[in-house]
Amino acid sequence: MDGFGGTTLRINLATGEIKRTPTDPAFAREWMGARGFVSKLLYDEVPRDADPLGPDNIFIVAPGVMTGSFSPVGSKIGFGCISPATNGHADSSMGGHLGPELKYAGYDLIVLEKIAPEAQYLYIDNDTVELRSADKYWGMGSIDLEKRMKDDLGEDFQIATIGPAGENGIVFSCITHDFGRQAGRCGVGAVMGSKRIKAIAVRGTKSLPAHDLDAMTKLTCDIIERTKTHPNMAPWQKYGTAFFVGWSNERGCFPTKNFQKTYHEDWKKIDGERLVEECLVTHKACFGCWMNCGKYSRARIPGKPDTYVEGPEYETIALVGGSCAFTNIHHVAYANYLLDNLGMDTMSGGSTIAFAMECYQRGIITKDDLEGNELRWGNIDDFEHFLRMIAARRGIGDVFARGTKGAAESLGQDTIAFASQAKGMEFSGYDTRWYPAQLLSYCTSDIGAHHNRSWTITTDIELGRENYKGKAPVVVYLQHIRPLFDTWSCCRLFWGELDVTPEEHVETIRHLTGWDVTLDECFLVSEKIWNLNRAHYLERNGGPGRKHDVAPARHLSEPVPDGPAEGHTVGAENFEAMLDEYYAARGWDRDGNPTREVLDVLGIGFAADDLEKIGLLGKPLPGGIPKVRGQKLKPKAM
Ligand code: SF4
Repeated sequence: MDGFGGTTLRINLATGEIKRTPTDPAFAREWMGARGFVSKLLYDEVPRDADPLGPDNIFIVAPGVMTGSFSPVGSKIGFGCISPATNGHADSSMGGHLGPELKYAGYDLIVLEKIAPEAQYLYIDNDTVELRSADKYWGMGSIDLEKRMKDDLGEDFQIATIGPAGENGIVFSCITHDFGRQAGRCGVGAVMGSKRIKAIAVRGTKSLPAHDLDAMTKLTCDIIERTKTHPNMAPWQKYGTAFFVGWSNERGCFPTKNFQKTYHEDWKKIDGERLVEECLVTHKACFGCWMNCGKYSRARIPGKPDTYVEGPEYETIALVGGSCAFTNIHHVAYANYLLDNLGMDTMSGGSTIAFAMECYQRGIITKDDLEGNELRWGNIDDFEHFLRMIAARRGIGDVFARGTKGAAESLGQDTIAFASQAKGMEFSGYDTRWYPAQLLSYCTSDIGAHHNRSWTITTDIELGRENYKGKAPVVVYLQHIRPLFDTWSCCRLFWGELDVTPEEHVETIRHLTGWDVTLDECFLVSEKIWNLNRAHYLERNGGPGRKHDVAPARHLSEPVPDGPAEGHTVGAENFEAMLDEYYAARGWDRDGNPTREVLDVLGIGFAADDLEKIGLLGKPLPGGIPKVRGQKLKPKAM
């Protein structure tokens, strides 16, 4: 089976039974890998009332069709489960080397079922697959553990770990690999921890069969030659995503003080220039990558140990640096290290602490709640103390371990109004009050607010930031194209920053697999996944769909107080009108429920049957469904 390792593993953690089956070629062709595999398996296998942290949730490890190919750039691997943060479908991906290593060991998919009786790790060395005791590793930090396991097993093992947060079920726990690459979002680390799996260690030394290696090599060499001199290459190599800090401040979308503001007066103290000048140790790349956007840094703070971390990258600088109002790049890098080693997503973790800082600012939580400590903006000692309270679920740390939505529901006092989240997932590092399409993207996303599902800041600029009409179909287009890369499991930055076209990625897949696949077909797979996840979410959480596509009050009605976006806000009426246009562009009814016509066209009529049984199937649309549901509405800028 060209392009694939050939074997699927299914492991019952309760009994220790390990089953190997040949990877089903029809399943692989239909869902392509990673995010596609995750969507279908979760839909088929997890009971709708299963507790995300209970035995009936499954935990999926899934590389994709391009993982392990050197063509640009098959570095990614996906993880899937029902999310403890959103109670919906979860998938989260990361780069590094684990995905390729797994395929070189011969595996395309791993499904972990039930709960292990004691702490274990999954050991894979080519054909040897074992569950081994992790007693001696339980309680260790993610980064500390990866180093320890490399010492124990050998440098050539690729290892993914969770930290104490994952063990303790913090809903924004992540999975860490390669000393700083994370599958950060959706709480996948908490589900891995709930299974009592502390780590996955893989060594693979086999080859991956390719259908037409010469053609794939030629295409890759052409792309390397062309992208080497692309004007974006130099800044990305020098600063990574951190060069974006000034760009987003100048455009009034940089989250500051828990999104109270959208411009950080001291952004130059925490931007990419400062990072490179003061902290950079070396550049770092994922498997097969010639862009090396990773920045390996050292944080030096008097009175604290020197720490090393990959990052901070843009999202961390925005949601830890800006949102918690830091003014020192070493403090941001140190906070990044703490979050990584404790095993928490820097995005949701940073946002949750920023939300707590605003609660402290307003007197909603006090020193009495904080073990006598304070929680002041930009104070690294306060940040560290509170972060450790969350990781250990001590005192009020237990409340914030549920994320901003869960904490707001527990605290009451209308704190939900300034919890910047959608469906229980914290916003990425872009304020939306001057960027209405980005607000629509966050609120309609299948996994909650995440820029990787659809990033529309440049689209909002191109189409006019005060315009609301005509943007929803573009959001649908972007929601289909961005997740393509999660299904293919390759780095989307080569498309987004270096102009490698989606058609070239599809050509790579044809050379790799021998499939007669087209870009249009890939768009349909993406749309199919999107609709299946929507149906799954409604089946788990009830409906109508519209009641879940909700924007936080701050982002609807609180004008930006100063900076380039001063005075702007979206407004509830405009947002509802955008939702109407969005549902129409998707072929859903006005309640936001998918219609049978769309689900049938996509080949997932079984989901229509399931929705019909619970009264959540969309009413037929008077004019029929749109023929092209966003696929061809490509904006000029992405
Ligand atoms: Fe990894 Fe960055 Fe290269 Fe993408 S560009 S593969 S994220 S190092």
